[in-house]
Amino acid sequence: MTIHNPQFPRVNLPQGKLLIGGGWSESSSGQTIAVVNPATEEVFAHIAAGTAEDVGRAVDAAQRCFDSLAWQRMRPLDRGRLLERLVLLVEANADELARLESWDNGKPYAVSRHVDLAFAMDALRYYAGWASKMSGEYIALSPFNDDGGVYRAYTERKPIGVVAGITPWNFPLGQAIQKLAPAIAFGCTIVLKPSEETSLTTLRLGELILEAGFPDGAVNIVTGHGDPVGTSLVNHPKVRKISFTGSTTTGQSILRSASAQMKRVTLELGGKSPAIVLADADMERAIPGAAMAIFANSGQICTAGSRLLIQSEVYDEVIRGIAEFSMTLPMGPAFQDDVALGPLISARQLQKVSAMVDRGIAEGAEVLIGGRRWGDRGFFYSPTILSNVGSEASLWREEIFGPVVVAGRLEGLRDIKAIANDTEYGLGASIWTRDLNKAHILASQIDAGTVWINTHNLLDSAVPFGGVKMSGLGREFGTEAMHAFTEPRAVCMRLDPAGLE
Ligand code: NAD
Repeated sequence: MTIHNPQFPRVNLPQGKLLIGGGWSESSSGQTIAVVNPATEEVFAHIAAGTAEDVGRAVDAAQRCFDSLAWQRMRPLDRGRLLERLVLLVEANADELARLESWDNGKPYAVSRHVDLAFAMDALRYYAGWASKMSGEYIALSPFNDDGGVYRAYTERKPIGVVAGITPWNFPLGQAIQKLAPAIAFGCTIVLKPSEETSLTTLRLGELILEAGFPDGAVNIVTGHGDPVGTSLVNHPKVRKISFTGSTTTGQSILRSASAQMKRVTLELGGKSPAIVLADADMERAIPGAAMAIFANSGQICTAGSRLLIQSEVYDEVIRGIAEFSMTLPMGPAFQDDVALGPLISARQLQKVSAMVDRGIAEGAEVLIGGRRWGDRGFFYSPTILSNVGSEASLWREEIFGPVVVAGRLEGLRDIKAIANDTEYGLGASIWTRDLNKAHILASQIDAGTVWINTHNLLDSAVPFGGVKMSGLGREFGTEAMHAFTEPRAVCMRLDPAGLE
């Protein structure tokens, strides 16, 4: 369907359809889900409400493709070439994909174009190169008995099989590519289930996947609600691996279900990441850096620096600086000039963030800036800095997933490890200092999947990403991705040198 609208991109967008086995089809439910623009609260599109039956068809198609001789015999370089063709198409359509993302998710167009699309294209290029780099190892053996034989062993990496890629709404296109690119590079096939809040760029990607000539069933897309689409994927016996990004609660439920069939899982979950500003930091960088650590994407980033820990000597200076910087960030609809911050994703998310802040204020939190909804149209929430929040308060401990940061003082460097690690999460952390010695010692003490020094949220497909504790299980990106989408198979042998001696 081509949609004509002054701002809505004129793309071939298969609304209300599912990509299964190389073609678009309707959901067996015949039902659709309305898509709301979070900046205007208007319904502007519909997606299909997939069912367990649709999931069954998609998984069968993915399995057929996986088992086919054509897929099994495809040269790794040619799997890489599929991703190369796709990245060229994404690049050619980058402006329109970015506009679609902004309509669907609400984020500023400049962010969609220069962050989301840039990340998505880099990830496709990165994994295209990996397809031909799959390798095992040779292992020296120490046999118990010297029976004259020559013993050897090697390992090869085997693709796991059909993957379910389940994604959230904060970086929709990037997350879809983060799942499908390694799956294809390492020889798996995949069923993608985008968030019901933001499925449009994944659907458009489906069009480009067909155009790039992917084999039928290599990538399938089933839109719809977590239950039944996500749950059916997780429980389907032919799905051998689940790559999930989303909330910790959903991750826990997936892990429980996956254990019944011993499925492989990668879980990228929530966080409550500290941004730690030491007294000797370069404030020209630390203040805007710590501000954007939390306010970028209106706080809807799993690694958002939502606990701001500041050394006492510079506490007032840093808080004032972050408050002043934040008030210069224009908030508004995605296509407005120079807009830096967009809305939250939904009325539900706005309600959740508002309720958490209101409760915190009632319990004694002090509002330094923000603390309320912004405007009366759209799901906007003002950048918010809160102090005087006790370390047992829900504001201090729970993920808010909005533009809300709680600030605390660090009296001594020795406290940092205990305070930073006093959380059930362990996704990211940043340390702002000019002292490399302090930076490296602290980095080694913080329980987090990623520690940044003098930067925050620097993501690169070459660097392993994931969390410890309740922030998840396993890693994406880099060499870790090969381990996540393949299983090692050991081949052990006895060779007989007799005939050759
Ligand atoms: P969510 O867990 O509600 O939903 C994520 C996806 O899972 C959606 O597609 C949803 O439909 C699906 N789903 C829901 N219930 C399911 C079930 N029972 N079984 C299978 N699938 C199900 O998360 P969200 O609200 O979309 O995203 C926000 C959360 O994601 C935050 O907690 C955030 O920290 C986390 N997140 C983590 C990372 C990371 O890399 N660690 C990145 C982005 C977001």
